[in-house]
Amino acid sequence: MALLDGKTLLVTGVANRWSIAAGIAKQLHAHGARLILTYQGERVEDAVREHAREFGGAAVHPCDVTSEESLRALAAAAGPIDGLVHSIAFVKKEDLSGKVYTTSRDGFATAMDISAYSLIALVNALERNLNDNASVMALTYLGATQIVPNYNIAGIAKAALESIVRYLAFDLGERGIRVNAISAGPIKTASSRQVAGFSSMPAKVAAASPLKRNVSAEDVGNCAVYLASDLSTQVTADVHFIDAGYHAMGMYPDTAQA
Ligand code: NAD
Repeated sequence: MALLDGKTLLVTGVANRWSIAAGIAKQLHAHGARLILTYQGERVEDAVREHAREFGGAAVHPCDVTSEESLRALAAAAGPIDGLVHSIAFVKKEDLSGKVYTTSRDGFATAMDISAYSLIALVNALERNLNDNASVMALTYLGATQIVPNYNIAGIAKAALESIVRYLAFDLGERGIRVNAISAGPIKTASSRQVAGFSSMPAKVAAASPLKRNVSAEDVGNCAVYLASDLSTQVTADVHFIDAGYHAMGMYPDTAQA
């Protein structure tokens, strides 16, 4: 019997094959989960439907987290779920370089709305869909707590997201529902490539992390499998680093500084 047999997981954030959510969906499916995928915008619908066929004919629904109507429609269509993966972020490109203090009010609001508030909105909309003892997880990044040049407002939104994870864990704990964050190392995706200087980040992690390598979307997916499974029923309100240990370094070896 597979680890996730009998469980249905709703996975947001698949835009293309490079999306971390695609790696997560792949691993959840490999371990027996039934999947529901959501997509934002007609532009990516065909690609997401193609992925859904690979993942055992997963159901596919549109979902724009900025639209209450869209969230309501998702809740009406989805049915009961044993887990929810929030793999959503958006920050205007001009806010992913330069000085944080030049961020516009509008840029700040957009980043916080789509990258952080959206977890509250999704849980609120899907509260009745979530079975007792379900697992909710959100993707975060080290830039939430440490300074990562150019990550800027994205890091500030991730700090809010990690705090939201803890408060939701408290809200939902009485139903046995766990809420956790997965903090992934840098992975080349459509979103991460918007961060100025991103292209050098994976190699820096590979050079400086204890495991001397970087991570893949499938590695992140393996953590999602654990969090979705009954192996993690006592784990909530936490941030799990899937970054080859990079977050724990206080100083980098000389070989990694070049
Ligand atoms: P991606 O571009 O593949 O995924 C981002 C997703 O957000 C897309 O599917 C997009 O459709 C969705 N989205 C944006 N606005 C939305 C809206 N209004 N409604 C619904 N969905 C919306 O990039 P990714 O790197 O796979 O990002 C997924 C998550 O992983 C994000 O939270 C990101 O911050 C996080 N993360 C990424 C990295 C990395 O290095 N790639 C590292 C750590 C954390």
